[in-house]
Amino acid sequence: MISCRDIAKLSSQYLDQDLPLMTRMRIKIHLMMCVHCHRFMKQLQATINAVKHLKEPEITHPDIDNQVANLLQQHRQNQK
Ligand SMILES: [Zn+2]
Repeated sequence: MISCRDIAKLSSQYLDQDLPLMTRMRIKIHLMMCVHCHRFMKQLQATINAVKHLKEPEITHPDIDNQVANLLQQHRQNQK
């Protein structure tokens, strides 16, 4: 039987679907029986979603480099 400590250890892999089917089934069964791990997993999922939500706009911002390059160029031109 999988323990609460195992759940904590495997939780991020579980949420990434990065575990063998048997392990995932065991975790699922544990989560159905253990309210603490169930709550823990829910909170972790929410946290991961929030972080992903926060990070995405920064990552998908290709304009920043161009803007910086333009500003640097303007700055150099003003110095001449
Ligand atoms: Zn548990």
